[in-house]
Amino acid sequence: MNYSRFITAVSAARKASPIRVLTELMQRSPPSLISLAGGAPNPNTFPFKTASIAIGDRTTVEIGEELMKRALQYSASAGIPELLSWLKDLQKSLHNPPTIDYRAEEGQMELCVTTGSQEGLCKVFEMLINPGDTILLDAPTYPGTLAALRPLGCNIINVPSDQHGIIPKALKEILSRWNAEDAKKLTSNLPKFLYTIPNGGNPTGASLTTDRKKEIYQLARQYDLLVIEDDPYYFLQFNKPWAPTFLSMDTDGRVIRTDSFSKILSSGLRIGFLTGPKPLIDRVILHIQVSTMHTSTFTQVRAIKFPETDLLSKLVCVCHIMIAQLLQQWGQKGFLDHVDSVVDFYKQQRDVMLRAADKWLKDLADWHIPAAGMFLWIKLKGVSDTQELIMKKALEKQVLLVPGRAFNINSSDPSSYVRASFSLSSPSQIDQGFQRLAALIREAV
Ligand code: PMP
Repeated sequence: MNYSRFITAVSAARKASPIRVLTELMQRSPPSLISLAGGAPNPNTFPFKTASIAIGDRTTVEIGEELMKRALQYSASAGIPELLSWLKDLQKSLHNPPTIDYRAEEGQMELCVTTGSQEGLCKVFEMLINPGDTILLDAPTYPGTLAALRPLGCNIINVPSDQHGIIPKALKEILSRWNAEDAKKLTSNLPKFLYTIPNGGNPTGASLTTDRKKEIYQLARQYDLLVIEDDPYYFLQFNKPWAPTFLSMDTDGRVIRTDSFSKILSSGLRIGFLTGPKPLIDRVILHIQVSTMHTSTFTQVRAIKFPETDLLSKLVCVCHIMIAQLLQQWGQKGFLDHVDSVVDFYKQQRDVMLRAADKWLKDLADWHIPAAGMFLWIKLKGVSDTQELIMKKALEKQVLLVPGRAFNINSSDPSSYVRASFSLSSPSQIDQGFQRLAALIREAV
């Protein structure tokens, strides 16, 4: 892959921040090194000393004084090493990416921790998009993506999709406007990337089938597109086995994948991770160096639950700094068991919402059964645009949904859809909410 074709001048000009390089060097050095170099504050002056965090499985994450000092200190921009290696192992087990043993410049799989997957996405877009570039996505889509893309001045082309995600034939037709051979030129006007949410799409609840993914990946190869696989609902798939990801098919090193812990561990801690070809992930890390510097060390930190008196545990304690602690305590199996329990919850919630929809909305709306995620995408019959119905009348009736416009490439385009989320409401709230929505639709048509 010729990655330079994709990178903007701003991203190409990024150089390592010398202070960050020194900090990372210092943190990897043995205690015998006398460093007068760092600009890090002295953590003895910080007011927080220890923490004990109770976990749902009745264990605790203990953060002793030494570990707390590390948790409160600056750390590496890509993420703390022990969390990085845990996450790399996870990606290997879940996706077995073909690029794992490639040489760096050939697009070897690399990973970095991000402050939520949103940070990763935003930085990837800024790395790739020059004003005037063309990119492809299947709208309606996540407004956070659209809001990050619009100011960059790119042409956003909508690829038709249905409940199984992007329709490969439609993608092929769109791509036929270009000449694949142009990819060999230094400057080409080919689209740079295809962005999609492959599982439980926000807002549509659509999930791509494996066959479609394969066809889409082949088209990406033919037209030399990068594929941005934004997959925060990967762990919220209701049926097993989980679908193979684009990352698992990526023989070329053209897939950038964003994962998120927001739906399974915590959304407020702000932690996600970005996986993709090293030449591109390294550019994102350079950007992190000069923006957030790194995701909160405390969030990443791993403590251990052994007593402080145990020498071994003390050693482990200093070399492990909440998420990484938890993950190492759990291991992959414990993590995936937790994911299963989260999936059980969302599946029950989905089924409650589907029953309420059948009860109240049957003749008034259409929907499909989402195979993942937390959203039901509902098309109201006989309502050409849901904006006013939802933003005014529904509010008056004390029911809140998201009008479909919010997810359109052009937010002034009308939409007959509303997005209903089944994550937070109780069965009786879902039932009442749809009863109110049904009354509103009847009044409107
Ligand atoms: N992508 C999609 C499709 C989302 O729905 C969300 C969150 N709603 C994000 C990215 C951002 O997630 P995070 O909390 O990991 O930043």
